[in-house]
Amino acid sequence: MIVNMTNLATREEIDHVIERIRECGFQAHVIEGAERTVIGVVGSNGRRAEIEALKAAPGVAEVIQIAHPFKLVSRQLRQQRTVVDVGGQKIGDGGLIVIAGPCSVESADQLMETARAVRKAGANMLRGGAYKPRTSPYDFQGLGVEALRFLREASEETGLPIVTEVMSETDVEIVAEYADMVQVGARNMQNFSLLRRLATMRCPILLKRGPSATVKEWLLAAEYLLAGGNPNVVLCERGIKTFETATRNTLDLAAVALVKELSHLPVLADPSHGTGVRSLIGPMSKAAAAAGADGLIIEVHPCPERALSDGPQSLDLTGFALLMKDLGREPVEDLYPRTAAVSAADQLASTLT
Ligand code: PEP
Ligand code: MN
Repeated sequence: MIVNMTNLATREEIDHVIERIRECGFQAHVIEGAERTVIGVVGSNGRRAEIEALKAAPGVAEVIQIAHPFKLVSRQLRQQRTVVDVGGQKIGDGGLIVIAGPCSVESADQLMETARAVRKAGANMLRGGAYKPRTSPYDFQGLGVEALRFLREASEETGLPIVTEVMSETDVEIVAEYADMVQVGARNMQNFSLLRRLATMRCPILLKRGPSATVKEWLLAAEYLLAGGNPNVVLCERGIKTFETATRNTLDLAAVALVKELSHLPVLADPSHGTGVRSLIGPMSKAAAAAGADGLIIEVHPCPERALSDGPQSLDLTGFALLMKDLGREPVEDLYPRTAAVSAADQLASTLT
């Protein structure tokens, strides 16, 4: 249920309602809007009838039922859109942010080369997997902490905030120490103990939709994070399993538009995992933007044919720069202009045989 206070409600009236909600066995989630305060009533074991009776309390405009099982993520509770700040980069403020980088961090050089190139092409954030959820135990599993260090170095040099996946509760501390945003991968969307742990932190979370999860299950997974105290959640549609085998997954862009109706949280689209096909990344990026996505997360590798994971769905550096141009992004100024010293060294080198 939601208790909408009137725009004239006093502090005492608001505090009284919060106290009554707690007395009735619920938790109160207070949202102070510009004009009025809205109080979400959360929990399942309280005395509902007494909350309904709060209609009669001073300062209360109305008490309404929330139509969905997810409450704190619902737009019914909060009409204003959530804007998540990731290391200074805003997600959900109306712009289209682009996160780019390799599926897996493979070496310091591979990551740095990618980071410089995607930054130059206008990307807003850098991605890269340090802990990789692989279908086969014989495939590359990620470089772990070493990769986290490479990510930090690349972020420091380029200024791009980083997002990387955490796979287990054991690694939450270390990943959150290095990353600006922590990704919960598709396979872990319903790992409730991981969600509960991440809910106790303030770090922004990128919550990917499970390959077989309904929109309701996805939003309820996000509800775990908000209910546990972490409001900094960004959703990501990354394709679902359907009967179709021509693409790796089916990128459900209707779900992007639907979630924007149902929830105040920002939503990204991942056309790389969503299609598994390099040539489809461009068209689906534009389609996702048209469907209302707040951003894209795209896999980019300096040499996709040598990638240790997800090469076939990775753009190379030129392909990414072209896509960004197509999306209307201007390349940003070169962080690495050739200095006079380098040019002189090049000139000298060219005279040597
Ligand atoms: C990834 O981002 O590389 C990844 C493994 O994503 P997902 O969890 O969506 O498969
Ligand atoms: Mn991948």
